[in-house]
Amino acid sequence: MKQRILEISQEATEWRRTLHRHPQTAYEELFASDFIAQKLDAWNIPYERKWAGTGIVATLTGEKNESGRTIGIRADIDALDIKESPNKPWISETEGKMHGCGHDGHTSMLLATAQYLSETRNFDGTVYLIFQPAEEGGNDIDHRVGAERMIDEGLFKKYKMDAVFALHNWPWLPKGQIAMCPGPIMASSDRFTLTIQGVGGHAAMPHKTKDPIVAAANAVLSVQNFVSRELDPLGTAVISITNLNAGTGAFNVIPDKAILEGSIRTLYPEIRDRIEKRLEEIFNGISHIYNVEVNFKYNRIVDPTINNAEQVALCASVAEEILGSSNVDSNVAPAMASEDFGAMLREVPGCYLWLGQNTGEDDKPCNNSLHTPHYDFNDDVIPIGTEFWIKLVERSLKL
Ligand SMILES: [Zn+2]
Ligand SMILES: [Zn+2]
Repeated sequence: MKQRILEISQEATEWRRTLHRHPQTAYEELFASDFIAQKLDAWNIPYERKWAGTGIVATLTGEKNESGRTIGIRADIDALDIKESPNKPWISETEGKMHGCGHDGHTSMLLATAQYLSETRNFDGTVYLIFQPAEEGGNDIDHRVGAERMIDEGLFKKYKMDAVFALHNWPWLPKGQIAMCPGPIMASSDRFTLTIQGVGGHAAMPHKTKDPIVAAANAVLSVQNFVSRELDPLGTAVISITNLNAGTGAFNVIPDKAILEGSIRTLYPEIRDRIEKRLEEIFNGISHIYNVEVNFKYNRIVDPTINNAEQVALCASVAEEILGSSNVDSNVAPAMASEDFGAMLREVPGCYLWLGQNTGEDDKPCNNSLHTPHYDFNDDVIPIGTEFWIKLVERSLKL
C-alpha cells in the first residue's frame, strides 16, 4: 500500500475517534457536518452544505476533466439512540447516543479518500462525495431516511452521476475481506399498523359485543399463513407482528379496540407490492368475518438495496487487486437487514458492499453486532476502505 494512504489513515483514526465521541442522530448531525466542512476547507475541496439539513456534497475533479465521467461515493454520518458500554477510551460524550453502526468509520474513510485524491488527482472526471445524514431514519412515523430526502431535494438532478457506491463495515466478515453480490444485498423495510375497532362489553355477554381480540388473533395467523402459503419460499419475505395491544387490564371486560403493528422485509420490489396489496385484502376480509371496522396503514420506509452486475464486477476486481481473490466474495448471500442506500441505487446504478472487520477475538468491541452497546468500528480497516475508494475512483475515471 502507498505510504501516503497509510499516513492519512493514521490521521483518519483520530478523526474517527473524535466523531465517535460526538454522536448525533437523524438530521441533528451538526458536529459531524462542521467537522467534514472544516476538513474539506483545509484541502480546498469545494462543497455544498445543508443537503437534507446536515448533509454535504463535495466535488473533486481529476487532473483532467475531459472524459465527462462522474461517480458518487456515499458515507452516512448519523448515530443511534443507544447507551454506550464504557468499553473503549473514546466513548460517547452524549449519554444515550452512540455511533453503534460505525458511520463514524465510514465518514472518516471517505474523508481520508478526499484528502488523498485532492493531493494526487490521478483521474479524469468528477467524483462526488456524499456525506448523508439519517441513514437510520428520522423519528417521525415514516422514519424518513436521509437518502430519500437528499434525492427529493434534487441530489441526482444537480449532480449527474454515472454510478454510485457505498460500503458498510461488517462485523460478521473477517477483517481483510470484502463481500457483495449482484441483485438484492439488503432487504426493504416497511411497517404497518392495523387498528381493529369493535364494540366492547361484558366478558360474559360476547353476543352483545364485537370482539376485536378474536379478530386480531385471526389477523396475526392470516398474515403468517399468507407468508407461508402464498409467497414463494425462495422469494424471501419476512412479516413479523411486533406489537399487539388490546384490553383494559380487567379480566372480565371485552375491549372495543385492538392495535397491531408489524415489520415487513423483502428483497424484491414485486413481492413488496404484493404484500402491501394482500395485507389490505386480508384485513378487509377480517373486517367482514368479525363485523369490525379496520383501519390499515402501510408505511414504506426503505427500498431494497439492489446492486448492478456491472458495478459489482468493477468493485470485485478493485477489491481483488487490494486483498487478493481469496478475500473477495462477489456472490455473498444477502441480509434481511436494511440500508437506505437502496433509494440511491433505485435512481442510479451502482454497488453497495460489506467491509469485513472481525478479528476473531472474543473480547474485541469490533466483533460485536452492529446496533449493540458493546460494538465499535475497527480502525484497522480504515486503510483498506480508503485504498478501496481511491482505487475505485482511479479505475472508474481512468486517465
Ligand atoms: Zn445501522
Ligand atoms: Zn449503518
